Amino acid sequence: MNSMAAPANEPLYLDFASTTPPADEVVDAMLPWLRHTHANPHSEHFHGRRAALALDSAREAVAALIGGQPEGVVFTSGATEANNLALKGLLSATGSRKHLWLADTEHKSLREPARHLSGAGVMVTRLAVQSTGLIDVATLTAALDTPGRTPGLIAMGHGNNEIGTLQPLPALAECAHAYGHLLHVDAAQSAGRVPLDVEAIDCDLMCLSSHKLYGPAGIGALYVVPDLQDQLEPQLHGGGQEGGLRSGTVPTFLAVGFGAAATLALQRVIQDTERQQRLAAVFLAALSAQRVAFQLIGHPTQRLPGHLSLRFPGVEAEDLLALLAPALSASTGAACAAGELRASHVLRALGLDERAASEVIRFTFGRTTREEDLRLAVECTAVAIGRIHERSG
Ligand code: PMP
Repeated sequence: MNSMAAPANEPLYLDFASTTPPADEVVDAMLPWLRHTHANPHSEHFHGRRAALALDSAREAVAALIGGQPEGVVFTSGATEANNLALKGLLSATGSRKHLWLADTEHKSLREPARHLSGAGVMVTRLAVQSTGLIDVATLTAALDTPGRTPGLIAMGHGNNEIGTLQPLPALAECAHAYGHLLHVDAAQSAGRVPLDVEAIDCDLMCLSSHKLYGPAGIGALYVVPDLQDQLEPQLHGGGQEGGLRSGTVPTFLAVGFGAAATLALQRVIQDTERQQRLAAVFLAALSAQRVAFQLIGHPTQRLPGHLSLRFPGVEAEDLLALLAPALSASTGAACAAGELRASHVLRALGLDERAASEVIRFTFGRTTREEDLRLAVECTAVAIGRIHERSG
């Protein structure tokens, strides 16, 4: 049996967008680096050099996943740190870039650094999205096409973590560059789920998260096009590791696991994408067959494979998830702030009102998800929704 598979008596895991279990190949690759080959990759002796070689291979594997150059990969603790490094590093006090654009639907790890920068004198402009979550070139052009602006940075999530919409990156990159700006792409959700190529996209920076692509948590990367690296102000100062851009000892076992996950993702991405699309289609068809009323949130086709954001009208997502908890683990689009549930900023940005936004559940599938599990999950969902409707009369 695949050890990634959950024990039979557990609820079904349908929350792969929040994290993925490390693949068997990943765990196997990591274990020696937790045992006898463990060493500091920045040490000059035999053990250190052996670890440094493993780090080189991991860097190559991560670069290969996105069609980049190994020297462009800066290992970080995850995508949150990589997003912080990209934004704060490029829009630093000493640099010439002083303007940041980002969509209303971005992940908090872009929104919060933007808020911080705005307090530090950087001009931050929000980009409105369409009701599908897409940013179109016309919107971006209108936002950029104003006179007298200094060069800046456009930060953009590729696949949205809540609603799954995929942005049309090459067209947006072309637009950004036409106005002399750089493009940073948050690919935490899309890497490994869809093929990625930094050169074809023509972006300047990209962040990745290992634990979203069947690697270990605690590591990620910021890809920085090599000739841009001297414009990036490090945010962690110390021993000068990662070309001086991110000080701190790189954990070899995590980097090796990330590298193994990247290699596997590259090998499997086409087959995984097709399978995930099929699983999503099976889930939606089963819901229709059960006569469950639902609305697919996000873009109908330009979306992350295996990612469904669904609104069940008249059904509070929290109530539904509570009823479903013994059977399956999924998540809502609601963010809990200071103990108070508030509608997700992403759903509100699409134009959903508070009530509609509180009726949205995210189901995300992964390599271990099986069609028969999904049919069962849909049956449970239909029964739970029926009970909620009965209760509310
Ligand atoms: N960006 C996006 C789009 C994400 O979905 C996430 C994780 N939810 C992050 C960034 C942060 O990733 P990490 O957990 O590696 O810090």
